[in-house]
Amino acid sequence: MNRDRLTVVIAAWNEVQALPRLHPRLAAVLDAMDDVQSRVLYVDDGSSDGTWQLLQGIAAGDARVDLLRLSRNFGKEAALTAGLDHVTEGAAMILDADGQDPPELIPQFVARWREGYDDVHGTRIQRQGESWLKKATAHAFYRLIGRLSKTPVPADTGDFRLLSARALAALRQLRERHRFMKGLFGWVGFRRIAIEYERDARIAGNTKFGFWKLWNLALEGVTSFSTAPLRAATYLGVLTAAVAFVYGAWITVKAVVWGDPVAGWPTMMSVILFLGGVQLIALGLIGEYLGRLYTESKQRPLYLVDAWQPGGPPDARLLAVGVSSESGSVTGAGHAQRPPVAGVETR
Ligand code: UDP
Ligand code: MG
Repeated sequence: MNRDRLTVVIAAWNEVQALPRLHPRLAAVLDAMDDVQSRVLYVDDGSSDGTWQLLQGIAAGDARVDLLRLSRNFGKEAALTAGLDHVTEGAAMILDADGQDPPELIPQFVARWREGYDDVHGTRIQRQGESWLKKATAHAFYRLIGRLSKTPVPADTGDFRLLSARALAALRQLRERHRFMKGLFGWVGFRRIAIEYERDARIAGNTKFGFWKLWNLALEGVTSFSTAPLRAATYLGVLTAAVAFVYGAWITVKAVVWGDPVAGWPTMMSVILFLGGVQLIALGLIGEYLGRLYTESKQRPLYLVDAWQPGGPPDARLLAVGVSSESGSVTGAGHAQRPPVAGVETR
């Protein structure tokens, strides 16, 4: 019988402390699932702390492990895209390198996938080891994007998920530069189901997402998946114009009825400042979208590959690489073909 194929994709940036603890856990889980033919693909997102050397060691000791190294740090979203692009067959399971997504849950994801689901995603019911501020802002963000975006972005759901071959093929067709992965997953659709889990604290090392990075990610999410802020700018403009009109009418009536004793400098200043502020906000909003249009129009690759190092066994590898690269149409049986990889291989 042909066993189901699953590749676990892990983006890692400076994770020398966490990876030696994660891999044995993951390997134990994969060993136990003997009805699944599994591979592990580590994407080194331009680490500078010896993660790549560490990964070499892991790959030397485990024939399931494939390694991909990007030319520099491209960010988690690009690193994941690179990883998913290199999954040649079957489904992909995305995991964080820091153990926050427990690998022990993978069999549950696989079970759902076998039931026919295309996007099995982990939804956090609890987050350990994260500040209340991060939890509160994350909560607010998911509610906001949920209301603004037309495509579903499930709340409290990160990248911890399993994608079927056809969901993967579909995702690979979305080549936009501003990648808000959670939104892209939602856009793909197909049969989706959540698995609830408690998010553990990092096993080692520090978070790579500080306040500004998270803020920018949130901005990315809102502007990539919603044009509501642009509309909000319009409404704000209409509202201020209406208020200004009423106020203007009132001044006119006042002048006609009671005369005009040249006063009102404070009023004038406040009106000018207010309108100036509103205009700048609206301009800034337009600028955000224009800037995105600009980066999009440059059509740069999403990432550059420094090294692609598939693990053994060699015969299985030859088979996978030999598959022709017809363009990836989204069909139910998307197993056999490998969609074109849009990142550029430099070596
Ligand atoms: N990561 C990455 N590139 C980056 C930032 C993060 O590949 O530029 C990886 C990181 O190694 C980890 C995952 O993305 O495997 C999640 O990062 P982190 O744990 O720092 O984020 P948090 O869980 O705090 O949101
Ligand atoms: Mg983490």
